[in-house]
Amino acid sequence: MTLTSSNYFSAEANREYLSVSQYKDFVGSTGIKGCEARALAELNGEYEREKSTALLVGSYVDSYFEGSLEQFKAENCEIFTKQGTLKAEYRQAEEIINRIERDPYFMKFMSGQKQVIMTGEIGGVPWKIKMDSYIPDICIVDLKIVKSIHDRFYVKKYGYMDFITNWGYEIQGAVYQEIVRQNTGKVLPFYIAAASKEKVTDIEIIQINDEALAGALEKVKEHVERVVKIKNGEIEPERCGTCDYCKFTKVLSRPMLYTDLILDEVEDVE
Ligand SMILES: [Zn+2]
Repeated sequence: MTLTSSNYFSAEANREYLSVSQYKDFVGSTGIKGCEARALAELNGEYEREKSTALLVGSYVDSYFEGSLEQFKAENCEIFTKQGTLKAEYRQAEEIINRIERDPYFMKFMSGQKQVIMTGEIGGVPWKIKMDSYIPDICIVDLKIVKSIHDRFYVKKYGYMDFITNWGYEIQGAVYQEIVRQNTGKVLPFYIAAASKEKVTDIEIIQINDEALAGALEKVKEHVERVVKIKNGEIEPERCGTCDYCKFTKVLSRPMLYTDLILDEVEDVE
């Protein structure tokens, strides 16, 4: 199928193509556990995760820069109060937009083509990407609205990490860079244009260096085969055991030992 902005997120497109968010749903990132069972249930339309406010604030800012904010407001009435005014989080999103627009250097990175869709192949299967700001021959930029740019996250196995590593944005950069290379023959630098939701908004242009992207791409290639086999129904998905989907669908069969209660999972250290 040919992807457009209207069918990009459709169930059909998600079955035919892998995307970074789908990949991370299955495999996870350094800081966030994936859940194969949940990811597959979502693909099959059997389960839907709540659209979090944090996610919607990001989409609000994205749609402003894309020039589709009015459409976004029409499609997401939950961003308004009963009185018809913007909820506090989205008033803050307006402030974040104003802060970004006050910085010419940040705006240069946001000056590319918006929400550009490309497809390609990684690990022998088709992928789709959608870029926030694509400046042909120059760079690929993804806009992230984060709690704090300098937040650190803790995972027992790896120790402290930055938000890029925690949320797996190096995976996103790796896939975007590779798909753009396949389409244009150019290896472009990948930047995260970040703005924070703190009381006073912080802004930063962050590069994820090519070595890190190359490493991330290799890891993606290692995991793709299993993801595709699960998608095709060739192997059974594993349950993570701790996500909302696993809790909701859990069936008890025996007691557990109290010393196993503490799970080695991601702790958000603040
Ligand atoms: Zn799970």
